[in-house]
Amino acid sequence: MLRNIGCLLDYTHSSLICTTLKQTYYALTCLRTRQLSLPAFELSSKKFKSVQFNSHLFYSEIYLEFVHHNASVRQLQVRFSTSIIKNRMAEKKKMSAKRKMETDENPPTEKKQKLGTSDIKSDDFIDKISASRSNVCKSISEFKFNKKRVRVLSKVKDFPEDSQGVVYWMSRDQRVQDNWAFLYAQKLALKMEVPLHVCFCLVPKFLEATIRHYHFMMEGLKEVEQDCNKLEIAFHLLIGYAKDVLPQFVTDHDIGGVVTDFSPLHTPMQWVDDVTTALPKNIPICQVDAHNIVPCWEASPKLEYGARTIRNKIHNQLSGYLTEFPPVCVHPYTPKQKPQNIDWTSIEASLTVDRTVGPVDWATPGSLAGLQMLESFCKERLKYFSKDRNNPNKTALSNLSPWIHFGQISVQRCILTVKQYRSKYKEGVEAYIEEAIIRRELADNFCFYNKNYDLIEGAYDWAKTSLKLHEKDKRKYLYTREQLEKGQTHDDLWNAAQIQMAIEGKMHGFLRMYWAKKILEWTGSPTEALETAIYLNDRFNLDGRDPNGYVGCMWSICGIHDQGWKEREIFGKIRYMNYEGCKRKFDVAAFVRKYRGKKL
Ligand SMILES: Cc1cc2nc3c(=O)[nH]c(=O)nc-3n(C[C@H](O)[C@H](O)[C@H](O)COP(=O)(O)OP(=O)(O)OC[C@H]3O[C@@H](n4cnc5c(N)ncnc54)[C@H](O)[C@@H]3O)c2cc1C
Repeated sequence: MLRNIGCLLDYTHSSLICTTLKQTYYALTCLRTRQLSLPAFELSSKKFKSVQFNSHLFYSEIYLEFVHHNASVRQLQVRFSTSIIKNRMAEKKKMSAKRKMETDENPPTEKKQKLGTSDIKSDDFIDKISASRSNVCKSISEFKFNKKRVRVLSKVKDFPEDSQGVVYWMSRDQRVQDNWAFLYAQKLALKMEVPLHVCFCLVPKFLEATIRHYHFMMEGLKEVEQDCNKLEIAFHLLIGYAKDVLPQFVTDHDIGGVVTDFSPLHTPMQWVDDVTTALPKNIPICQVDAHNIVPCWEASPKLEYGARTIRNKIHNQLSGYLTEFPPVCVHPYTPKQKPQNIDWTSIEASLTVDRTVGPVDWATPGSLAGLQMLESFCKERLKYFSKDRNNPNKTALSNLSPWIHFGQISVQRCILTVKQYRSKYKEGVEAYIEEAIIRRELADNFCFYNKNYDLIEGAYDWAKTSLKLHEKDKRKYLYTREQLEKGQTHDDLWNAAQIQMAIEGKMHGFLRMYWAKKILEWTGSPTEALETAIYLNDRFNLDGRDPNGYVGCMWSICGIHDQGWKEREIFGKIRYMNYEGCKRKFDVAAFVRKYRGKKL
């Protein structure tokens, strides 16, 4: 049954989540009127057990329950194609114009008007972004690529004669558009007049990642596959470590060169080193920083002390990098062989990850959903960002970190878009730029230049000395990792924050600081505290295993990018936070009420 639905989805080039109830109805009607009749599955009302419209924070998705041959009921999230919806929208516009002429005395209700407007606006938002890409140029081959984004990693630089393709080995930046690594790979492939292949190497287990993270990533990768198909670019999901599978792929497909993206973290850096060593000696490999706006190695050549020392370095270079993206275009050279069909369902079933931490329902994976979250941020929350972003009871944050972490949306796209609202929400825009560019790039800088980025040894000398001095201080409360994980402390705010993270996969940014500092206070040593904070952060937060996370824990527990404060027990000179301070900042009781009674 799943395969049949797969056919249906392929047939419709499924890619767009219906953003409103109305779009969903149109998409459904459209599917029916196309009279799709696949042998074992027919999209008819008889076969639906139910159609649910599930409206989460900012958008709606539909869930269809199918009954097939009296077999068990399955639930599926179905996405519909842009083309279907666009056709229906065009038809709808024509119809409504006609209706308006026919029934001028019978105007639509206010509710209907509202739905219609938001449909069109939503379409506009995505369309405007693709139009701005197309305005840059038709194809990356016409575009002057800023080579400072690129580092050649291999000894050889030139492609061998007669090669048959270029590979973009996708890793941190899991999207097609707005991706400088993808664009650079396409530019090379166009220059060489060869096919472009995208390879993603999926390992069955990755650090503390759970099915929550894998699910989010794999759903996003399905969208990448579909987007690649539309652009005649071959997408390959290779199972195993890149060093074991990529060199063979390169040889089998006569690949002339490899482009990859950049992460400053140990494991992906090691993967890149391993692949560079394992590739045939005549094959060049280069790396493009597609995550940062100013490439990490250009922003600063050294470990920076804090935001104040990197801020100007980044701002002074921004104009050279914060430019509109050209589009990844339909690739004119197709490979002789089609890529292997990917059986996503059985691959997901074969993963050996922890399945006790499941997917969350508020964050739909994929680039399109990421853009929709960006849209809702700009239109609904940016106006409050400057004033309310430290209040966990307010809806003021961008909420984009899961998509940014998995590279499903580009920070550069977020900034280009948010900046358009400067005249309306100047302070919000400035605050967002500070967080998403300066603080985020500072985190990459720390992990890139400090190999102990997740250890107490990576802290400044004043902090290490001070923490050591207070290591044996008596702790009033001591909790095990299990008690912390279950939110079983004496502190109702801490427990509520832990529950928020465990259930929703994203703890509010302000609470993350309080949460980590209390772990320092309630565990046996700074080393144990740091390990525990990183473990829990990476296990539950969708944006975990990120430079921002390591730096966030290091900032809270060992004063990275901070200064020394008044000395006190356990904390030494590390900045202290307490419950009373939180009460002065926001309505703690209201936050606690929201999560009280929620079971982990
Ligand atoms: C203990 C602790 C753990 C953290 N763990 C993570 C993590 O695992 N992954 C993660 O992405 N961030 C982490 N952060 C940083 C920050 O809390 C999150 O980036 C933010 O809460 C994400 O939500 P948002 O996208 O709605 O952020 P917004 O407030 O809307 O900010 C916009 C963007 O700016 C960046 N940003 C915001 N705050 C910071 C910061 N302090 N440092 C670096 N970049 C920042 C992020 O990319 C974020 O998406 C952690 C912070 C602390 C103190």
